[in-house]
Amino acid sequence: MSPLSMSTSYPGTVFMVVAPSGAGKSSLVNALLTNDSNIMLSISATTRAPRPGESHGEHYFFVDKPRFEQMCADNAMLEWAKVHDNYYGTPREPIQKALQEGRDVLLEIDWQGARLARAHFPEAVGIFILPPSLPTLQARLRKRGQDSEETIARRLEAAEHEIAHVHDCQYAIINEDFDTALQQLLSIVQASRLRTATQSVRHRQLFQQLGANALLNQG
Ligand code: GDP
Ligand code: ADP
Ligand code: 5GP
Repeated sequence: MSPLSMSTSYPGTVFMVVAPSGAGKSSLVNALLTNDSNIMLSISATTRAPRPGESHGEHYFFVDKPRFEQMCADNAMLEWAKVHDNYYGTPREPIQKALQEGRDVLLEIDWQGARLARAHFPEAVGIFILPPSLPTLQARLRKRGQDSEETIARRLEAAEHEIAHVHDCQYAIINEDFDTALQQLLSIVQASRLRTATQSVRHRQLFQQLGANALLNQG
């Protein structure tokens, strides 16, 4: 692969955080967003009912099935997938706008969505959050206290399928101690922003002044 084909045309980085339900994905992502103001969290649309405390436009765009289908038909979704019997999708426009403005975008999506999103953003950074064990995962789902026993059982079953897709992601964080996992997530974000392909777009002028692209088109 030539160096040129690795380069991005926009300065923002796409992060995809993938995890089985209960692994701590939302807690880690929220802590990351508090620490880093240059990342925009993509708000997904879903047909799932809001949990207590979740609000429209903040956690998800809660829509009914006909509206969700209309958004797909209008090509307004970057990707969508059926997860745990509900539909989830990533609205396209806010992401493109943020990337063009040089902001980073974080997608909290399932493995199916991550595959589809990678087709649009080949340089996207995939980060998988693993629980320290299956019993711990179960305990965390219970502790969250927002899903019925039936829903928890369904999510646990789905967890093993989701975990089998860990190899789709470049990074795997084991969320045992929360602060350690958060530091690891912050390190991945920092290192990804320093990739040469990303830096050469973000600092285009400096790279030109320094002659740093001199060998780029040579095979
Ligand atoms: P959680 O697993 O407890 O965070 O529960 P959620 O209901 O918030 O998420 C359900 C599933 O849908 C998870 O696997 C998410 O990663 C996935 N998901 C959320 N948003 C999106 C999206 O925009 N696209 C896709 N493909 N999956 C999503
Ligand atoms: P997800 O978004 O992956 O479904 P959450 O962020 O909602 O997961 O976390 C599930 C539950 O586990 C929450 O109650 C959260 O407070 C708890 N939790 C997350 N990370 C840890 C950790 N490292 N140690 C103990 N509990 C955790
Ligand atoms: P929950 O219902 O617990 O909020 O989310 C369940 C799963 O749906 C999570 O694993 C989450 O990552 C996934 N999910 C949330 N939004 C999207 C989305 O827009 N697209 C896809 N493909 N999955 C999503």
